[in-house]
Amino acid sequence: MVKELGVAYYGFHFPDRAGEDFLEMMEHNCNAVLLAVSEYDYQVWYSNVITIAQKAKELGLKVYVNLWAFGKVFGGEAPSVFLQDNVNYRQVLSKEIPFPLVGACFNTEGFRKYFFDAVSKLAGEKVFDGFFWDEPHYIITGSREIYSCVCPKCRELFREKYGYDMPPKANEDVFEFKEESILDFLRQASKLVKKVDPQKSVTVCLMPFYTAEEQGVSWEKVCSIKEIDVFGTDPYWSVARKDMDFVSQASRETVEIAKKYGKKSQLWIQGFLIPAGKEEEVREAGRIIGNTDVDSIFTWAYRACEGSMVQSENPKKVWSIIKEVYAELKE
Ligand SMILES: [Zn+2]
Repeated sequence: MVKELGVAYYGFHFPDRAGEDFLEMMEHNCNAVLLAVSEYDYQVWYSNVITIAQKAKELGLKVYVNLWAFGKVFGGEAPSVFLQDNVNYRQVLSKEIPFPLVGACFNTEGFRKYFFDAVSKLAGEKVFDGFFWDEPHYIITGSREIYSCVCPKCRELFREKYGYDMPPKANEDVFEFKEESILDFLRQASKLVKKVDPQKSVTVCLMPFYTAEEQGVSWEKVCSIKEIDVFGTDPYWSVARKDMDFVSQASRETVEIAKKYGKKSQLWIQGFLIPAGKEEEVREAGRIIGNTDVDSIFTWAYRACEGSMVQSENPKKVWSIIKEVYAELKE
């Protein structure tokens, strides 16, 4: 029996208008919402972020917070104020390139303080039921020939641990080092949530790649973090140019691994960038996911991202299919 059905929600700024959107989500059979809070929202609209979360809560939704695209090392389209203000804490590639990378380094004191301060502040807000770590990853180059990150802090830590300088091409030590860096970051952030408010849950969503070489950190290692309560993935078949077998496999494996480590599981349905004519795939994916023993199902995002750069070609159609799929899953 599926306990939780939700959507991600972003671009909100006024509680009364957001309240109307929450009612629409509930009409679409949602009982939970993930507020995607960008650095801009966090820095400029903090007060309304909290009143909007309270509005969702009053209406009966579970409310989760996602530090959306923070430092551009968490998933999402939102820009990063941190990167704009802190060129020195950006990731550095192993080959020299004439422009700075768009991604903060997990190991730099500057980014750690920035992120952990935000976690600490938001964790103090009673309204949130939990936190969501969204696709934490290093910049993916897809090659061992060139990799990130070899910033001064990473070089210093790597030398301390392995006794030699970071190599020009990635080797097993580099993969292990990067994996440990992400794990340490997630462990610290999750511990902080529990320290401030032990009632809050911590969810992590990794991309549907299984190894450290592919996304910086492996599923197994992330699941071994004690403070993480829910493990999930987002098998967005259409953007990955894959079919429903991909959705089936990722869903099955997510539920299995979550159970193995005593966690709850979460799966995401692609509601964005659905090409015209392919809308029924959303229903198919929803059914596949619904047929697993998963605890929580979410869709990215509200109204199939209508009007945004990642909107589906027929967002209204996709959004109404999500309503129908959720009605089936509710029963
Ligand atoms: Zn670095």
